[in-house]
Amino acid sequence: MEQADIFEVENGAGASQHRAQIVPVMVPVAVDKTYSYKVPQGFHLEPGTVVKVPLGGQLVIGAVWEGEADTSLDPKKLREIIHVYDCPPLSENIRRFVDWVAAWTLSPPGMVLRMVLRSEEALEPERPVPGVLWDGESEPDRITAARKAVLEIAANRMGWTKAALAEAAGVSTSVVDGLRKQGVLQDIEIASKPLPVPDPTRPGKQLTEQQREVSSILTQQIGQGFTAFLLDGVTGSGKTEVYFEAIAEALRQGQQALILLPEIALTAQLLERFEERFGTKPAEWHSKVPGRRRAQTWRGVASSEVKVVIGARSALFLPFKQLGFIVVDEEHDGAYKQDDRVPYNARDMAVVLGHISAFPVVLASATPTVESRINVEMGRYRLLSLPERASGAALPTLTSIDMRVDGPERGKWIAPQLMTRLRETLANGDQALLFLNRRGYAPLTLCRTCGHRFHCENCSAWLVEHRFKGKLVCHHCGYSQPTPPACPECGRADSLVACGPGVERVAEEVIDAFPEARVLVLSSDMGGGAERIAKEMKLVEDGEVDIVIGTQLVAKGHNFPQLTLVGVIDADLGLANGDPRAAEKTYQLMAQVTGRAGRIHGKGVGILQTYNPEQPVIRALLSGNPESFYAVETESRKNAALPPFGRLAALIISAEDRLWAEKYSRVLAQSAPACEQVTILGPAEAAMAQVRGRFRFRLLVMTRRAFDLQGFLRSWLQSAPPPTRGLRVQVDIDPQSFL
Ligand code: ADP
Ligand code: ZN
Repeated sequence: MEQADIFEVENGAGASQHRAQIVPVMVPVAVDKTYSYKVPQGFHLEPGTVVKVPLGGQLVIGAVWEGEADTSLDPKKLREIIHVYDCPPLSENIRRFVDWVAAWTLSPPGMVLRMVLRSEEALEPERPVPGVLWDGESEPDRITAARKAVLEIAANRMGWTKAALAEAAGVSTSVVDGLRKQGVLQDIEIASKPLPVPDPTRPGKQLTEQQREVSSILTQQIGQGFTAFLLDGVTGSGKTEVYFEAIAEALRQGQQALILLPEIALTAQLLERFEERFGTKPAEWHSKVPGRRRAQTWRGVASSEVKVVIGARSALFLPFKQLGFIVVDEEHDGAYKQDDRVPYNARDMAVVLGHISAFPVVLASATPTVESRINVEMGRYRLLSLPERASGAALPTLTSIDMRVDGPERGKWIAPQLMTRLRETLANGDQALLFLNRRGYAPLTLCRTCGHRFHCENCSAWLVEHRFKGKLVCHHCGYSQPTPPACPECGRADSLVACGPGVERVAEEVIDAFPEARVLVLSSDMGGGAERIAKEMKLVEDGEVDIVIGTQLVAKGHNFPQLTLVGVIDADLGLANGDPRAAEKTYQLMAQVTGRAGRIHGKGVGILQTYNPEQPVIRALLSGNPESFYAVETESRKNAALPPFGRLAALIISAEDRLWAEKYSRVLAQSAPACEQVTILGPAEAAMAQVRGRFRFRLLVMTRRAFDLQGFLRSWLQSAPPPTRGLRVQVDIDPQSFL
């Protein structure tokens, strides 16, 4: 089909032998169409070829696309492609995927393509970098300690960059330069080491009967076209082992595989397990991977040299050449939704990519989303269950503490019963985890004298005290200021009090009660990034920590073999925030975090501190019967026509001027085409009314499932008065966050 889409027109210059090819190019700007360009003499370009073209006064990177070039343009005015990149063309599947995501999210396709073509460095074959080599014999005129150190390192006869060699030898680069000048070290060019290939023939773990059944269904589907699976297995049931088998099969068939994870912090443990199974680490893809490595990975993925990628949601937009399998691990996790720029849900788009490219996709979780479960009921996904832990260990016993009657004294957050349990756990030499989904020391700081509260300048949010850092921080925009010694309003010193608990404050209480215990706060904002978190997770895994106090970071995916007690400081947190998925999210989080207890040896205990033990979510958790929770939740979704029974979109209207944003949201609401199948709610001030200095209003659009929501929105937005004066309208299909 490729050839038919490209056509040639006569070059206006009149030399009829010289025909210039004209092609449509998708460029990374917010318009809904391609632009036509002349192809340079001597080239014949196919769709997918990555090119550099002039656009306005700039040069941009784009890709030759399908569709017709515009032949009505005066050939003399057509601009020419100025560079054709020497990288494999983007496959037809990826081009269709880009178009599909654009149409689904109502984003310009060029902006989606931009997520594929992130780094220009990746588009050219890697250039070797200058380095040095020692032949093992040449000697300097005079040997010094520093020179000796360099030559000892260089004795391995490998090429080194000057900087790396100097660093390894613990000397300055001038020592290396001195040896170069004398001809002891020779100048060479070095290329990156080729990426190692995972070996599918290595044996995996001996699977249990249950695991074997599930794994054989999966492996049989590899190479056999699209199916979406929901792998629903309790924590510790071996979901990872099972999907590793499917990856092994994809590798045996010469295909590539992708494992998506919601959080970078989870990759370290999985990389290690992957290496154990396949003899080498897979490629990693997320925002913290250094530039040169990213470029190498991108190219490796495009050429199919890289076989397996573990990555965050953005890995879905890598230019895979022969992708044959995707796992979306922890599919229930909200982090799969990108909320800004192109708002997409990587979990759902992974299923779309599988559908377009005809390969199976697995969504894995111990607490699947209500949506995925309903998709199973409706026959859209196929269910694979692992109801038992691989170790045979029992699931933890859950109890609650009614904080109204059995709570701690004022200013404390851990009830006496939980304290007793902690003491017993430590006495047994086991580990305990206290969970509170609130970073920092206290969620609100106020002045005891005048009542002043610290408010973010840009957002409708209180500043959160981080005592370790000595700062007040906005968790929405990152704004921070040093914690002042006195109240800025009334000037009174020592009058500021912290209200409510954050993890740092709970840690304080724990250290007070157990001064001899090894206590660790695990929170995403403690500095040091993913590396530090990975190190700390390892400490816990190795039993170097007695009590962990953590935010939702610890709820996810990790195996802590010696953990037997999980205490949830505030089980009600998150239930009352106006989010239609609040109950579901709370249920998942509680089940995940308590599921950390006793994973290997059993005898785990989970304790929920609550002011509302009769709340249905808490009751469902305590009953140990998830089905009852899902049944109630499914019913209420059905009655409210919420996804996946109905379709939902949010329009967020924002401006720096509050009135202006409000006025335009009304105008927009009024200009909606009349349609009795569509319900429009709002405009309402968004729950987070102000974010990063912009005021936000929200319209919610609800329709039944079999309705072309995108088509409706498109014609609405096209006919509505255009937003002006700094107004922005953001469309969010199937919103996950209602802030
Ligand atoms: P999940 O992903 O469902 O939480 P994992 O795959 O992480 O479960 O398995 C939990 C633990 O049990 C891991 O330490 C894993 O190595 C171990 N495990 C799983 N299946 C087996 C098996 N068949 N034999 C031995 N150990 C297993
Ligand atoms: Zn803020």
